[in-house]
Amino acid sequence: MAETKQPERLCVGCRQLHPKDRLLRIVRSPNGTAAYDPTGKSPGRGAYLCPSAECLRLARRQGGLSWSFKGRVAPAVYDALEDVVRREEDGA
Ligand SMILES: [Zn+2]
Repeated sequence: MAETKQPERLCVGCRQLHPKDRLLRIVRSPNGTAAYDPTGKSPGRGAYLCPSAECLRLARRQGGLSWSFKGRVAPAVYDALEDVVRREEDGA
């Protein structure tokens, strides 16, 4: 099996490195609004989360996104991620 170097990013929940393409991306746009980024390509500063309910729970409890963005993040952002994680865990 050939080894391909994948970019890795820190999950804001478990704070461990994972291949970027396996993580959910949350982006903070230049106007300061944070939102889930389904395309993974939106401009702005990105934060990453494992598609896992456990990591989301940790991120929410520790304010992982606020930590990453160095600013307040609306609870609605976590709620949106919860829907995404639930779909991922259903094996969609
Ligand atoms: Zn994680």
